[in-house]
Amino acid sequence: MFLPDFPEKIAKELCKLSWKSQLKVRRILSVELCPISCLDKGQLLPVKNGFILRIRIDLEEDERLFTLGHELGHTYFYSYSSAGSPRLINMGHTSLEETWCDNFSKEWLKNLTSVDRDYLEWLLKYIEKMENKTAQF
Ligand SMILES: [Zn+2]
Repeated sequence: MFLPDFPEKIAKELCKLSWKSQLKVRRILSVELCPISCLDKGQLLPVKNGFILRIRIDLEEDERLFTLGHELGHTYFYSYSSAGSPRLINMGHTSLEETWCDNFSKEWLKNLTSVDRDYLEWLLKYIEKMENKTAQF
């Protein structure tokens, strides 16, 4: 079973960057708010050169941000070394991975600057108003 370094350490390190740089280094190509019919609160979809990060539209503001952090956490379970789409390092989701991502997100929210937090909250509201509910980066 593959587990990255301590989630607290990685989240703190990532928060040294602005939210936009964070999405860039984690290769988030777009953030989408997806319909209520989505099964999970969030989803990380590996595509060519990165990921599409999906958050369910009916979540509360705080929960959306937590889900964004959680899905960012999942990026650490992928290998970026080869060209093309990121490859999963371990075999599918486990409860250990989910706990890791929850802990990552908690620490990420704690370490996010208030400016970055405000921007991300604004962004998620902005996406909701967009017709295709998607922001590309
Ligand atoms: Zn998860």
